[in-house]
Amino acid sequence: MATPAYAKWFAVVQQDQDILAALDFCEQQQCDYLVLGEGSNSLFISDLDVLVIANRIGGAGQIADLFADVNNQAINRINDTQDYSDFQIGAGVNWHQLVEQSLQYGYYGLEHMALIPGLVGAAPIQNIGAYGCEVKDLLVSVRAFDTKQKKFIELDHSECQFAYRDSLFKHNPERYIITYVTLRLQKHSQEFSLDSMYPALQDVLSKHQTINQFDIFQAVCEVRQSKLPSPKDIPNSGSFFKNPIVSTQQKVDLQKQFPELVSYSVPEGAKLAAGWLIEQAGLKGFFAENGVGCYEKQALVVVNPDKAEGQAVLDFSKYVQTTIYEKFGVMLEIEPRLYQSQGNTLSCQS
Ligand SMILES: Cc1cc2nc3c(=O)[nH]c(=O)nc-3n(C[C@H](O)[C@H](O)[C@H](O)COP(=O)(O)OP(=O)(O)OC[C@H]3O[C@@H](n4cnc5c(N)ncnc54)[C@H](O)[C@@H]3O)c2cc1C
Repeated sequence: MATPAYAKWFAVVQQDQDILAALDFCEQQQCDYLVLGEGSNSLFISDLDVLVIANRIGGAGQIADLFADVNNQAINRINDTQDYSDFQIGAGVNWHQLVEQSLQYGYYGLEHMALIPGLVGAAPIQNIGAYGCEVKDLLVSVRAFDTKQKKFIELDHSECQFAYRDSLFKHNPERYIITYVTLRLQKHSQEFSLDSMYPALQDVLSKHQTINQFDIFQAVCEVRQSKLPSPKDIPNSGSFFKNPIVSTQQKVDLQKQFPELVSYSVPEGAKLAAGWLIEQAGLKGFFAENGVGCYEKQALVVVNPDKAEGQAVLDFSKYVQTTIYEKFGVMLEIEPRLYQSQGNTLSCQS
């Protein structure tokens, strides 16, 4: 979001020993720490008087061709069958590089999640997902340093407690420092029907005779580039609010008042399209005086073009939440994690 904020201390970790050294430093200084990937899903409300640890396990950026040799510090093939391979991937590897290069080498499964900014180590935190797929669908296990048990551990899929934009890691901020993520990628190319595609992809793919994983990758890139501003051009953190989940009864009541309500059935009831709610409340393309606003092409994206302070972004998001609550009786939840520090103590809201 490009909110101005400074860290008192900053460390880059590239291997296990670096993590231990960083934690020792915190003990000496009696300060908290914050582990970051690329910071694309983090909002800083104030300066941070703590140690910020940039997780670059696996030597991010140093390996141009990840799959050319799958036994290096960035990526290891740990299981291989006729149908799939399990790859253990360093937390510091760039997510989109992984998606693109896995396809080039004939490993499938990540194509719906192209162009999600950030690093592999952050992917399990909020169980990233797009167009009907989530990282949990391919994830085998996560390797992490558990700061409570003070040792490196391996958590299998069920232990990660994945849910929509949620996981064990979100409920225990800073307890687990993720070093590797193991993903199962399929080896066989597949054909998909247009009907099985997420509505936003159907328009782009409608002229295709057949649809395979490469077509999906390209369609996802095209749709995302047309709708979402690049954070490098216009600071933003993607979807700023989660799609709220309401009971089936609440959905039915809302539908009586708003027949066009956009919703999807989920086991807990109905998931509402937060972007639709914001648009209906007249906030799409609405900007506060400090420049913070809801992007004109996608209401769900809060943008900060003038690099206003974190508190200004938070105030704007509270205004959106109140407006939506007053109109629909639904409280929107913020998706990025909010950070501020009081002295050497870090406070995280997620
Ligand atoms: C334009 C745009 C589009 C986006 N689209 C999507 C989307 O379609 N779907 C989606 O799910 N998300 C989306 N996001 C959100 C974001 O891309 C993801 O949440 C991504 O995983 C963040 O990666 P990061 O490395 O930048 O994480 P950071 O912001 O650096 O970290 C996110 C959180 O994870 C923690 N963390 C990071 N790395 C580690 C680690 N190794 N160990 C322990 N904790 C760690 C941090 O402490 C922080 O709490 C989008 C963001 C932007 C800006």
